Amino acid sequence: MQSYTQLRKLGLFDARVPRYTSYPTAPQFKPGVGNEIVSDWLSAIPAGRSVSLYVHVPFCRRLCWFCACRTQGTQTAEPVGAYVETLKLELALLKALLSEGVTLEHLHWGGGTPTLLQPEMITDLSTAIFETAPLAAGAQFSVEIDPTEIDDPRLDALAAAGLNRASIGVQDFDPMIQEVIGRPQSYEVTKRAVDGLRDRGIGSLNIDLLYGLPHQTEARIADSVNKVISLDPDRIALFGYAHVPWMSKRQQLIPTEALPTPEARLELYGIARDLFVGAGFEEIGIDHFAKPEDGLAIAHCAGTMHRNFQGYTEDKSPALIPVGASSIGRFPQGYAQNEPSTSKYQARVRAGELAIAKGHVFAGDDLVRARVIEMLLCDFRADFKAVAAEHGVPVEAIVAMADGLDAALPGTTTLEDGVLTILDDARPLARIIARYFDAYDMTSARHSQAV
Ligand code: SF4
Repeated sequence: MQSYTQLRKLGLFDARVPRYTSYPTAPQFKPGVGNEIVSDWLSAIPAGRSVSLYVHVPFCRRLCWFCACRTQGTQTAEPVGAYVETLKLELALLKALLSEGVTLEHLHWGGGTPTLLQPEMITDLSTAIFETAPLAAGAQFSVEIDPTEIDDPRLDALAAAGLNRASIGVQDFDPMIQEVIGRPQSYEVTKRAVDGLRDRGIGSLNIDLLYGLPHQTEARIADSVNKVISLDPDRIALFGYAHVPWMSKRQQLIPTEALPTPEARLELYGIARDLFVGAGFEEIGIDHFAKPEDGLAIAHCAGTMHRNFQGYTEDKSPALIPVGASSIGRFPQGYAQNEPSTSKYQARVRAGELAIAKGHVFAGDDLVRARVIEMLLCDFRADFKAVAAEHGVPVEAIVAMADGLDAALPGTTTLEDGVLTILDDARPLARIIARYFDAYDMTSARHSQAV
């Protein structure tokens, strides 16, 4: 690794940069994209094509203080039940626009807490989804699982609906850290959820962990990582805690004086990485690990991995259809986001229309820049010739985008034979290097830390 002095000089410890789960990033979305445009995009999906669909459930039983997700608390099933009815209305609107024979290659329920849905709601919602577009052969159906909000009837309903992947939120197992981030969750409760999923034949389990939490020390993160390894997940997402209290009021409850410094965050990541790699996991991109036989590791090895709003994915569908409040979709023509406010979303759908609030229509060199940024964050290298061939542009135009990169971030990349490679030592700077190819992002204050 480059020395801390070098990394500091290159701006790693001060920079605030996008995570680039899309390009352009969501703050660039504008209200010019609405129902009419997105209806055309949906209708243009060819008959028989496989697509992906993301369903957002914006409710939680508990509101963890560290979490910046758009979600709202509820203690009863009523608002959740009413929301599921609205989702079904939205699915009926989508069905009317989709061509015959469209199937789902990837289906993901996220939130919020999708496992707040009662068993009959799970059955009802999955039935409505599959009436809109059935799962394709070999499709992946994944759901984000809160171990404190799941039981046998809900696991049975998910398994019966065809769930074959699950993502389990852990963050950290240390009780003191859990207390200061407002998320109590014992190892035993988590293990029960893992066992329940495995018992039902759910073949692929992901666990989400965070580094950079308040009071997190080398010993504490090592203990959490070892506990995660003992649960035998197939993949791990090791995200940096993003302290953005200007976006998430709940985070004002987090004791900022107990947050690790950027240098300590890098150390914490390194300790976790070494343990995962030592346990046989492959390091994937900037923040994931997977068993070598896992689909993500295979896609990574083959150079076919992609990056979308859920992070790294094997999903290569041409379209990701957004369902639910604040959900974001991607089409060959651009991005579209539903109304972020649950009440506005529900009002529009109940009035019989889609609820697209904003988005972005790809223009100019957007797709070229998007692909370069995606390649850099997936593989730490971008093959400009391949991007040029893919998008029908001269390779010189892409090489020109890298003009000045070496002067701005010296010793971090090489450009040889049309391939830009991020040097191993400079990998912590990948998001900063990717940002060099971002023609939109001119502000720095609103993003999370680069490390
Ligand atoms: S971490 Fe999960 S359960 Fe906690 S507030 Fe965020 S979405 Fe809800």
